[in-house]
This record gives sequence, structure tokens and C-alpha cells, in this order.
Amino acid sequence: MADRCFHLLRLIFVLGAFLVSGSTLAQRETSSGRPADLEKVITTFGIQIVTTDPGFPIKTTHGAIAGKVADVRELQDYAGVFVREFSLYPRELVERSRLKRVVLCSDLSFASQRRSAIPDFEHHTLYLDVSGGRDNGLYQRKVIHHEFFHILDWIDDGRVYEDITWVRLNPPGFNYGSGGSRAQDNSGTSVLTEKYPGFLNHYSTTGVEEDKAEIFANLMVDSDYVRRRISKDPVLRTKVETMKTLLSQFCPQMNEAFWRRVERTAAGDQP
Ligand SMILES: [Zn+2]
Repeated sequence: MADRCFHLLRLIFVLGAFLVSGSTLAQRETSSGRPADLEKVITTFGIQIVTTDPGFPIKTTHGAIAGKVADVRELQDYAGVFVREFSLYPRELVERSRLKRVVLCSDLSFASQRRSAIPDFEHHTLYLDVSGGRDNGLYQRKVIHHEFFHILDWIDDGRVYEDITWVRLNPPGFNYGSGGSRAQDNSGTSVLTEKYPGFLNHYSTTGVEEDKAEIFANLMVDSDYVRRRISKDPVLRTKVETMKTLLSQFCPQMNEAFWRRVERTAAGDQP
């Protein structure tokens, strides 16, 4: 049990240090007080999006989740980013994730330690700090997908920190580090680099769960980089192929057409 608790605590981590300025969208507020675009996500995916105080602190088995109601301006900026990224997912994928609600807040923390995002498996809730990464939009976008992947990973088989099949894809003799939470003091941990063959960055080497989540997140927002890397890195290529296969098995709508759509969307981002 202690070991399990340790692992669950590890899961509730700060995701690192990506960041971009959120798009400044002049959005209407609805009668609910939420930026109008968020209503589209609620309708499309059938999940709750909470921008008021959800009852902080939220008790979980392993500690309390705390936060504050976000500044209206920051919330509006973030809402545009969140809606755009989340809307890339097929409705069926979100249904299968069993995600019930997303809480958008500020000053997010777990057990008094600041976090930029927290996947709360017990309550099928994803907490996102709208202030995290405001000066690095790419980072902010990756965090959304990275954290959502942890929820998919968990709901798939109830295991996040063990994946023998995936571990076997690694170069011979490789061993993961001690988890993403231990890398928070490494400011370059999330920077994409060829320094670690078979991995996208240092953060990917810290744990099998982070390796997978980083591949998913970067496929979602930086597929050009991933394509370049896998053209000369056979281990990474196999991981990307495995990731796509696993996702399509979990949700048939996560097919090649989906990835082409994501790539076209990303291409449309280019100035
Ligand atoms: Zn992670």
C-alpha cells in the first residue's frame, strides 16, 4: 500500500516548465460566468468545466488539492487555448477517458506544493492552472495533452507506472529515473532534444508514464519535430507507432485520419 501511495503521489506532479502567451481572445461571458467558448466543450463532450470555486480544498486519499478562482482576464486567455486543444479530441475518446470535469483555476497546489496541473483519478477530474506557462503557449498546450494522457493511461488498465511492453522498447540497458516530480528543478527537462536517443527529452527518461505522455503531447502539438526525430531514431519511431496503435485500439476514432487532421491543424498554425 505504501508503495502504491508513493506512486499515486508521484502521479500528482508539476508538469515541468513549458510556457507561451495565451491567445488574447475577446470572448463573451455567458450567464454562467464562463467564457463562451467553454460552453462548446461542455456541449460537445458532455463534461463539466468549473471556473468557480469547486470547494477547495478538495480532499483525496493522498492529500488535498487547493486552488483559487482564476483572474477573469487570465481565464479568458486560457479558455481559447484550452478549447482549441481539447476540441482536437474525438468525442468518443473523451467518453472512454471517463473524464467528468475540468477545473480551471489558479494557485493550484497538491499537499501545499504548487502544481500546474493535477489529474485527480479518484474524482475523474482534471485540474489546470490557467496561469501556468502564460509566457510559453506551446508549453501550455502540451500540458493539456500530457495530463489528459495520464487520465487515458490510468483508465485503460488502472496502471500508470508499470508498462513492461513499453519498457522493452527502450535501448538495451536503459532504466528510467525516479519519476517526473523529481525533475522539477531541472529547467531544461521538457526541452525537446536529440541528446537522449529513443526519447524526446530528459523528462521522458524519468518514468515510463512520462515517456508515453510526452510522446502523446508532442504528437498533438509538434508533430513536425516528432516526424524529424523518428526519421533517424528507430527506437523512437517504434514508440510512436506503438502509441498510435494503442490509442486506436482504445478508441477506433484515434486513427490515421485523426492524426492527419491534427497535423493539418498544426500546419495551419504556421505564420
Ligand atoms: Zn506527466
